[in-house]
Amino acid sequence: MTQSTTPQKAATLFINGAWVPSESGETRLITCPADGSEVALVSEAGEPDTLAAIAAAKQAFESRVWADTPAAERSEFLLSVAAKLTERKAEFARAEALDTGKRLVEAELDMDDIIACFKHFAKLADSSPGRVIDAGDPTVRSKVVYEPVGVCGMITPWNFPLLQAAWKLAPALAAGNSLVLKPAELTPHTGILIMDVFDSLGLPAGVANLVTGPGATAGAPLSSHPDVDLVSFTGGLVTGRKIAAAASETVKKIALELGGKNPNVVFADADFDAAVDNALNAGFTDSGQVCSAGVRLIVEESIKAKFVDELVRRAEHIRMGGPFDEHAETGPLISDEHRQKVHAYVQESIREGCTLRTGGHFGGAEHEKGFFYAPTVLDDVKRGMHAVTEESFGPVITVETFATEQEAIETANDTIYGLAGAVWTSDAGTAQRVSSRLRHGTIWVNDYHPYLPQAEWGGFKQSGIGRELGLMGFEEYREAKHIYENTEPAVTGWFSMPEE
Ligand code: NAD
Repeated sequence: MTQSTTPQKAATLFINGAWVPSESGETRLITCPADGSEVALVSEAGEPDTLAAIAAAKQAFESRVWADTPAAERSEFLLSVAAKLTERKAEFARAEALDTGKRLVEAELDMDDIIACFKHFAKLADSSPGRVIDAGDPTVRSKVVYEPVGVCGMITPWNFPLLQAAWKLAPALAAGNSLVLKPAELTPHTGILIMDVFDSLGLPAGVANLVTGPGATAGAPLSSHPDVDLVSFTGGLVTGRKIAAAASETVKKIALELGGKNPNVVFADADFDAAVDNALNAGFTDSGQVCSAGVRLIVEESIKAKFVDELVRRAEHIRMGGPFDEHAETGPLISDEHRQKVHAYVQESIREGCTLRTGGHFGGAEHEKGFFYAPTVLDDVKRGMHAVTEESFGPVITVETFATEQEAIETANDTIYGLAGAVWTSDAGTAQRVSSRLRHGTIWVNDYHPYLPQAEWGGFKQSGIGRELGLMGFEEYREAKHIYENTEPAVTGWFSMPEE
């Protein structure tokens, strides 16, 4: 299956309003992880391409062409993007499904979230003006105004390619910034398509630029270059540390959305069927390739045996398949390399004493050409084991137990990460106490995975710095400036006036 979603074959870099090939002429063949079929050839950007994109973004920012566009017009633009995405939803969802291997239906749901994200930031663009400060002195006029940060670098992962990019693109454009987007090298197509949408809606040249290529070459300048004012990164912790270190040299603003090792705490009084069903959803949706996946099941001792038996029974019935397989319930991992990593993680967990209850192997013969990995449950897991300290980013749920509420809280917080978690109970007091003590950026009570664009998303501890979505996800892209005006300038008398 060959599909070209690019405006011009292998000229997939969008720099200063034009589609161009990489300076080196290098290309990358994108294949679908579900069956290895060819998707399309894209340009493989290197450092010179990213430098050109940064220069274009800087020039556009300094021209003020977008920064000085009235906020109401920027808001209108975002609404037009949302409308265009709605119109082209099928095309976008198909491109995302082919690049990631995820089920088409999931890619369509992602599109709904992306459209909602553009609408959310359209509202904020036009409703968050500066404010007048009462200086307590009638001769002083004081106000705080908000301005765009400048040139924003955006580096995004492969699991939700356009969704993660949208969380950055929409607020950055709403606030009047210029930007360079570098999507994950394996999943560039919806990044290409969204630039086409921006272009078709008349976004001035240079305001939004795209480089498709690897992190170490095409991505790195976005964290180190002095002309980039902000770098917003979503991806793994190890890469996040490198980006933060590189960004510190020029003290640029950083926003980091990193990994998670997310606890799913189930008390004995929880609705059993809903809790089991959601435990599967928490850990195995998108084959666990979700930063907020609830892969750390922490269940009350008294129901553990029954709960885990049912979890395993149901995990064994999960049907794997490609984007267009109507019977599939989950898809493949993104690459063979990633699958090998997940498998090595499972093997290491078994070596350190965990019990493999189900899974722990590649998909069966019918999935030979794709990078499938069977839903896996690891039992008898203890705090401190590698199985609960490391992110597998695959379909692997580990099982721990607790006897008291205090132990549940301590176990759930015993991680360097702090992205998300859930508590299952029918007792309102337990729900309130536990959710207030969990040190994670999103807490679900009797649910797993939903999020709202109006609510902040992000991590405590090493899951990141800053927030996306909500109000804070807009503020990341704005600088506050205080303007203090003395309407009756006079000598202060602070220093003595020497005689002539
Ligand atoms: P990754 O860190 O390997 O790559 C992410 C991006 O960084 C890619 O575009 C990659 O090309 C780029 N990159 C790699 N090295 C770079 C460098 N030295 N300089 C600049 N850019 C570089 O992550 P991944 O494997 O694509 O994604 C999986 C990770 O993302 C998981 O850890 C997951 O938890 C995390 N994630 C977090 C969130 C969140 O909201 N917190 C959302 C999705 C994914």
